[in-house]
Amino acid sequence: MACLFRRAHVVTCAGPPDDPLGVIADGALLTDGDRVAWVGPGADAHAAAGALGLVVDDQVDLGGRLLTPGLVDCHTHAVFAGDRAHEFALRAAGASYQAIAAAGGGIVATTGPTRAASIAQLTALTLARLERARGFGTTTIEVKTGYDLTVAGELRLLDVIAAAAAATPIAVVPTLLCHLVPAERRADRDAYVRALCEALVPQARGRATSVDVYCDDGAFTLAETRAILVAARAAGLAVRAHVGQFADLGGAELVAELGGLSIDHVEQIGPAGIAAAAAAGTVAVMLPGACVQLRLPVPPVAALRAAGVPMAIATDLNPGSSLTENLPLQMWLATTHYAMTVAEAWLGVTRHAARALGLADRGVLAPGARADLCAWDAAHPAEVPYHYGAQRPSLVAIAGQRVELAPVA
Ligand SMILES: [Zn+2]
Repeated sequence: MACLFRRAHVVTCAGPPDDPLGVIADGALLTDGDRVAWVGPGADAHAAAGALGLVVDDQVDLGGRLLTPGLVDCHTHAVFAGDRAHEFALRAAGASYQAIAAAGGGIVATTGPTRAASIAQLTALTLARLERARGFGTTTIEVKTGYDLTVAGELRLLDVIAAAAAATPIAVVPTLLCHLVPAERRADRDAYVRALCEALVPQARGRATSVDVYCDDGAFTLAETRAILVAARAAGLAVRAHVGQFADLGGAELVAELGGLSIDHVEQIGPAGIAAAAAAGTVAVMLPGACVQLRLPVPPVAALRAAGVPMAIATDLNPGSSLTENLPLQMWLATTHYAMTVAEAWLGVTRHAARALGLADRGVLAPGARADLCAWDAAHPAEVPYHYGAQRPSLVAIAGQRVELAPVA
């Protein structure tokens, strides 16, 4: 089953360093089943199909629209019950995230409703969020556990992620998140961390692809993070960490030392952490929605860029600091608030986000890549972040299957 997408302004996100978006004006793209078979100038499309032995049995005329890779949201906490709208109101009135957490709010305020919800309820809530994400162009999404905080409960949340993944066309990447030490275990936190390392992490093998640790003030210490991530590596799982949202504990250096995939947040990261990430090829995941909402300082984007650290951008979808499935809106925040370029914003939600998940077959439009595509009613890549809050793709294809097509205006 071959499909020709023609009259497209193709943003391959697969270009060289001096032209990373690799835009092909008047371009075309051929899919063969769930893969991209060819991308190039529109005038060459039929000859390319012939050379590849493809019979084009479907065509989509994009009328000059932008055609991009499907978006990759590489950092979400999409499995939870309840809401924390009252905390949003408290912060709007001036309360800090830490003050709210100290008063019993924050992550633990989501733990109760999440533990009380059934697998079916949590799956339905998660699927509704994935559907909204798809409407904004997300075709691959990372989903973390982290709101139960018990060994059995965190495994149950991995079951929820698997159930949601089986019921959506979006590709779901499951992550086990060690989020913080629950109040009832703070008196014996060493035993709690041991249980995570010896009971939880080994059982996540085959059910999660990576282990994430929240390494920050109020969450896990650097030594605890090391113990959990070393256990993850021993279990054959990839590693990543939330680092430097509030304080630089040295988490970036640790993740780089362990060959980890990503360091996420990085509002607080020093020259040593940046150098370590650059040397290891670890992706820095920007979460500007949470940064703005918590009124945190901006990450050192210029230093990360100068060091050559790949930068991704994600929603951080969660009930406390960033309740959104809108990845294009994060591109606007990244370009306006973080001073990232439009090209960096696009790579941040495509090629670099895929790299943060260890996925080499997506985030670019190139032969052999998964045929995850978005078409946008836009003629230039800048238009997507520019029209912030309103931009949605008019067409989404996931693994070659078109899942949404609005009428052409
Ligand atoms: Zn997070």
